[in-house]
Amino acid sequence: MAKVAFIGLGNMGGPMAVNLVKAGHQVAAFDLSANALAQVKAEGAAVASSAADAVAGADFVISMLPAAKHVLSLYLGEQGIATHIDKKALVIDCSTIDADSARKLGAALAEQDLAFIDAPVSGGVGGAKAGTLTFIVGGSDADFERAKTVLGNMGKNLFHAGAVGAGQVAKICNNMLLSILMVGTSEALQMGIDNGLDPKVLSEIMLKSSGRNWTLELYNPCPDVLPNVPSSNGYQGGFMVDLMVKDLGLALEASLQSGSSTPLGALARSLYVAHQRAGNGKLDFSSIFTAFEKVKN
Ligand code: NAD
Repeated sequence: MAKVAFIGLGNMGGPMAVNLVKAGHQVAAFDLSANALAQVKAEGAAVASSAADAVAGADFVISMLPAAKHVLSLYLGEQGIATHIDKKALVIDCSTIDADSARKLGAALAEQDLAFIDAPVSGGVGGAKAGTLTFIVGGSDADFERAKTVLGNMGKNLFHAGAVGAGQVAKICNNMLLSILMVGTSEALQMGIDNGLDPKVLSEIMLKSSGRNWTLELYNPCPDVLPNVPSSNGYQGGFMVDLMVKDLGLALEASLQSGSSTPLGALARSLYVAHQRAGNGKLDFSSIFTAFEKVKN
C-alpha cells in the first residue's frame, strides 16, 4: 500500500481521499478548511499541519482544488510545496484547470525531477463517493501505469488522453459537448410540450430515433420523465450550473488559443452564464430546461 498526500478535501476531494483510506493506503490529508479536515479524519485519514507536512515521504501527491490559481500557488507559489516532495513521488492534479496551466506546472515540476500527470475527473460528487469516477489522464505511459495504483481505488474508468495537458483538453471537449446536448434536448422537449405532447412519450420516441443522446436517456431535464435524476428533485444535487460555466469558460479559452471554431460551445456558454446570472448557479445544469419553459400566469 502506498503513502499518499491528499490536498483539497472539498465535495470531491473529501470522498476521494476516504476511498483511498478504505483501500488501505496511508493517507496524509491537508485542506485550508478545518471542517473538511475533521470529516476525513473521522474516516481514518491522518491530518497534516500544512501541505508541506502532508507531502513528506509520500509516494503519490494528489491535489483536488477549485481552479488553476490554487493549484499553481500550492506547488509553485505561496505554499510552494514542490521543493518538499520526494523525488520518487508522482504528482497527480485532479482539479479541472486550463491545459496551459497544467503544462506549465508539469514543466516546472520536471525541472525539479518530479513526475506529473493531470487527471481531471468526470462523474461528480456521486461518483467520488461511490468510487466510480472517470479519470482522464495527460502524462507519459509510465506515469499513467504508475497512477493506476491509486486512481483505480477512486474510479472505474481510467483513460490516457495523451501528453501532459491532454487530460484537461479531453475533459473540456466532453463537457462542452454535454452542455450543447443538454440545451438541445431541453429546447426540443419544451417545443413538444408547447405543441401538446407528453414529454415522456416524446422522450421514448426520440430515444428510438436519431435524436437519442445521453442527456435524454439518463439525465432527462424535464421533471418527472425519469426517477432519481436532479430534474425530478427540484434540480438539487448533480453538477452545478456554476461548475458548467467554469468548464465552458475553459473550453472558450482553449478554442481561442487553438483558433478552433466552436459556435455551439460559445452559444451554450452564453446561455449557461445568463441562467447563472438569473440566480440558478447552485442548481444542477439540467435546470437550463426551465429557461425554455413558458411563464405560467
Ligand atoms: P470544493 O470547493 O468543494 O473543494 C475545494 C477544496 O479545496 C476546499 O475544501 C478548499 O478549502 C480547498 N482548498 C482551496 N485552496 C487550497 C489550498 N491552497 N490548500 C489546501 N486546500 C485548499 O470544490 P470541488 O467541488 O471538490 O471541486 C474540486 C475540483 O474538481 C474543481 O476543479 C472542480 O472543477 C472539479 N470537479 C468538480 C465536480 C463536482 O461535481 N463538484 C465534478 C468534476 C470536477
